[in-house]
Amino acid sequence: MKRVLRYFNSHLPYIILLVAILSGQVWLELRLPQYTSNIVNVGIQQGGIEMTIPQIIDESKYGMILSMSSDKDRANIAESYEYWSPQNNNLKNKEIKDRNENTNLISKNHYNKNYYVLKNDLKKDKLNKLDKVFSRSLSAFAAYTMNLQGASSSRMLANIDQSKLPDFMKRQIAIKTTESIYKSNGINTDKMQKDYLWKVGALMLLIALSIGILSVTVSYIASRISTKVCTKLRSDSYNKVLRFSDYEMNKFTSASLISRTTNDIQQIQQSSVLALKFVFYGPIMAICAFIQISKLNMSMIWIIILAIFATLVSIAIIMSLALPRFKLIQTMIDKLNLVSIEFITGIEVNRVFNASKHEEERFDLVNSELTAINLFVSKIMSFMMPIMMLIMNGATLLIVWFGAKNIDKGQLFVGDMMAFIQYAMMIIMAFLFISMMSVIVPRAMISANRIGEVLDSPIRIKDEGRIKDFTKSGVVEFENVSFKYDGASYNIIEDISFKTQKGKTTAIIGATGSGKSTIVNLIPRFLESTKGRITLDGVDIKEIPFKVLRDKIALVPQKAVIFSGTIESNIEYGKCAYSRSELKRAAEIAQAMDFVEGKEDGFSSKIEQSGSNLSGGQKQRLAIARAVAKDSEIIIFDDSFSALDATTDRKLRNEIKKNLQDKAIIIVAQRINTIISADEILVLDNGKLVGKGKHSDLLKTCQVYYEIAKSQLTEEELSNVR
Ligand code: ATP
Ligand code: MG
Repeated sequence: MKRVLRYFNSHLPYIILLVAILSGQVWLELRLPQYTSNIVNVGIQQGGIEMTIPQIIDESKYGMILSMSSDKDRANIAESYEYWSPQNNNLKNKEIKDRNENTNLISKNHYNKNYYVLKNDLKKDKLNKLDKVFSRSLSAFAAYTMNLQGASSSRMLANIDQSKLPDFMKRQIAIKTTESIYKSNGINTDKMQKDYLWKVGALMLLIALSIGILSVTVSYIASRISTKVCTKLRSDSYNKVLRFSDYEMNKFTSASLISRTTNDIQQIQQSSVLALKFVFYGPIMAICAFIQISKLNMSMIWIIILAIFATLVSIAIIMSLALPRFKLIQTMIDKLNLVSIEFITGIEVNRVFNASKHEEERFDLVNSELTAINLFVSKIMSFMMPIMMLIMNGATLLIVWFGAKNIDKGQLFVGDMMAFIQYAMMIIMAFLFISMMSVIVPRAMISANRIGEVLDSPIRIKDEGRIKDFTKSGVVEFENVSFKYDGASYNIIEDISFKTQKGKTTAIIGATGSGKSTIVNLIPRFLESTKGRITLDGVDIKEIPFKVLRDKIALVPQKAVIFSGTIESNIEYGKCAYSRSELKRAAEIAQAMDFVEGKEDGFSSKIEQSGSNLSGGQKQRLAIARAVAKDSEIIIFDDSFSALDATTDRKLRNEIKKNLQDKAIIIVAQRINTIISADEILVLDNGKLVGKGKHSDLLKTCQVYYEIAKSQLTEEELSNVR
């Protein structure tokens, strides 16, 4: 996990940018409920009038209001207004008209009165203070005027002791009074209301648009980070697998390596996009929405806490059921890969053995197991949304229920209750996102651990050699070499000693399973000897860097490996810029020219995956041509002539002898004829070297060799030598 997390370190600046943008997004999202509340409270209930303070009051009402106010309030009002007489065209009044835009509220046909206009330069603190002052003064003024008008409902208001009215009610009365002052002076209050609603609406639209842009940016940054991380992960794990020796390949198995480097990395990519967004978004949103909500009304906080608790408990239950299955799913995908690979690569065997049914059953078994687990997980997860909806709707219901009571008591405005509901939903959603992380992160963790295992896997055969320059004698020497596979109880090869020579052919023969391939795989260090020493030109191969060592060796593996591409690309594999004549020479030595020329496009002929459009013998010859073209000092043929007919085999050996005189050649074979003219033949029996020498000598001295020869050669051929 930590191993994979480190890949995100190099993207830290982008992650910081992402958090900054997310914070901005949350800040904007939290504005919206406040504006909704304003639309209801100010826009609708207060007719678009935000504060109790009238922008402009006609002289007579101003006087009455002052007379209804306490001394302190009177002083506050007086210092906040300036006298304006529209009809008096002197310099002072003109200057007020130009400077104080509040005078614009009065239309020309109301210029017959004098006014007091609110000063333009009042600070916010002062305005807030004034709002309270007018709450008192205007509600008293309202009670007085209504009493004068004699309306029965207003008499009720007049009879109420002003000092006992709750503040919020005084404020509402004051705002209504301000509205009536405006109306009496010909100010269009409907327009005022509409303007307010348009202003807030436009602002909300702008905020919503900005949120949209920010969230697209966040998605882009998150995708960019996770795509880059996963590209790096993929190439690093691929490079690591390239360095794996046979031990690690056996440990992981190729099916698992394929699903780790594809499916698991895909899993990490998908999860990290979501995680990058929600890991930061959830907590930021939860904290900020909580702060906002606590400003509105603390008495209903318990509803939110209850909803969060319910969310966490339900997700914990769901997760405890689903999580163990996630790990199982990855293992099942490994299994499915293994079965698919075996089935597809072995399709011919499968057909000839009429084993489709068996394969189908094997596939069905894994497939249905995987389906069952996936279905189970989906079923559990499908409960998530309904439960969340239930919790959210339940919370809304409780808020409306208790909110209504608060509104009734005058402790809450309708708009504020609406804002409360929105904030509550935001908090619950934030906790949902946080909990979603508890689904996504563990799942990604399982995949990250599986990738981490590959990346951290120690490589048994280390490339730590330092010696790069030495003579090119092509001498490989085995000095009492033994080798044991992991977990095996006995040595597969034991105490093997021999030496190859430049210009000489060393052959290895022995029954199947006697350890021939094991010996040749020790030379390029695919395997590491458990005892003894192997040297190249006198230098221990452990002291030679892989690149240098493997440059000196060309190997034709027992099972010819052919890549998709062309004949040309297969021969010049690993080294580009061969000349056509070099390619031709290699193909001629490998006896591949006849079939290359037989193809319509010659060297450019297309080769399908694994060389499926070639015969076994053609594949072998192509693999031989590749090794010859590499022009290394040592060429190893591991049973590479087995699919060739006797004539081609003979021709090939003649060509090798003629053209590769400066190479040390190692030929592993089952057929005596292939190695009959070798300079030295090693006879293996159950991993032990039981004979060493030329064909003629071995026939006399080595019983095992004699038995092999006897089974393959005619009496005449045998007696010729004897
Ligand atoms: P053949 O002529 O059939 O190619 P060989 O002489 O090349 O046989 P090797 O491939 O060297 O034989 O195998 C020698 C022994 O090592 C065999 O008994 C085989 O079962 C065993 N062996 C090969 N690979 C492994 C492995 N990865 N783990 C354990 N044992 C192995
Ligand atoms: Mg072999």
